[in-house]
Amino acid sequence: MSGRHLLQIPGPTNVPGRILQAISRPTIDHRGPEFRRLAGEILEKLPLIFKTSRSVVIFPASGTGAWEAALVNCLSPQDRVLIYETGHFASSWQRLANKLSLQTTVLSTDWRHGVDPALLEDALTEDRQRTIKAVCIVHNETSTGVCSDIAQVRSAMDRAGHPALLMVDTISSLASIDYRHDEWGVDVTIAGSQKGLMLPPGLSFNAISDKAIFAAKDARLVKAYWDWQDILGANRDRFFPYTPATNLLFGLREALAMLLEEGLEQVFARHARLAQATRRAIKAWELELLCLDPERYSNSLTAVVMPDSYDADAFRQTVLEHFDMSLGNGLGRLGGKIFRIGHLGDFNDLMLASTLSGIEMTLKLAEVPHRPGGVQAALDYLSETTRRP
Ligand SMILES: *Cc1c(COP(=O)(O)O)cnc(C)c1O
Repeated sequence: MSGRHLLQIPGPTNVPGRILQAISRPTIDHRGPEFRRLAGEILEKLPLIFKTSRSVVIFPASGTGAWEAALVNCLSPQDRVLIYETGHFASSWQRLANKLSLQTTVLSTDWRHGVDPALLEDALTEDRQRTIKAVCIVHNETSTGVCSDIAQVRSAMDRAGHPALLMVDTISSLASIDYRHDEWGVDVTIAGSQKGLMLPPGLSFNAISDKAIFAAKDARLVKAYWDWQDILGANRDRFFPYTPATNLLFGLREALAMLLEEGLEQVFARHARLAQATRRAIKAWELELLCLDPERYSNSLTAVVMPDSYDADAFRQTVLEHFDMSLGNGLGRLGGKIFRIGHLGDFNDLMLASTLSGIEMTLKLAEVPHRPGGVQAALDYLSETTRRP
């Protein structure tokens, strides 16, 4: 097919030319002076994205590695963690915790709502022996398009007076949706390179509070590759204990420059506006959003419920064959029932217009019941809210 493929899954996202170019430089000595300057710049700027004044650890791994790192650095065998199951990713994190010989207590949603702070507070208040050592929350549940309120989670933990660590997965929200590691009292923030940071897959991150560093001193789960202490120690000299993903770090330096040039608040506003335009289209098509709580709509992706007896995967296949666009599939129990539109990262009005056009044309082609006019509704919203440069 001629022209460009549209990668509208909620991660990996479209990698902009500036980052591709930065990555394609010759690899350098990761123990030499040029690398030191690169690492120095990254280690100084990266915390700004997490809104933390503390260190952020970088792993050459996908996001799953940073989930594991958060748990093995802070916890001991048989420790109890509370996982709020907002969707497929929260439940994958739980399975990972179980494999690490942690005990998990699960609070569930219907996968259409976010974290209920009152339920969390009750569960923590009932834990009178304080056996729960960590609370694990997925900020933006990528399988459902539901974004929980982390400030409310923090308040619920404070009201319960519970000392558990707060661990938050921001893999599909960081650098797309407002997030504040320090202000919200998060102990470990988990993030990845391939979504809001606009990089290819391959890097992941832990932002770490002083309380988490302190907990790490007594934590007895086995760790070697993931050990924060070794990495933080080497980072003091702006090196890494093992070969870092040098070329992805070239890309990360460029991504940080791009985000800081645009300004984080503008980045969040851009995502909010494009997300709102997307929802206008879905409403006009008279299709159903998976997220049932307007306060919890995600600004980085939208999950759309397929009408009964229409298969979402067949629909996505038709989109791919006719228009060379990838949409996200339904994960876990949502398989075949929904499709997901990624509208995060390096993304703008006309990319969204293309995305929605591909969907509207396929709704017609595949004879999915809908009302035409979704694209027009989105365009109207975009033109009403456009700002003069
Ligand atoms: C993408 C994603 C993950 C998985 O990350 P990998 O890089 O595939 O290991 C975990 N959690 C959330 C919320 C995600 O969006």
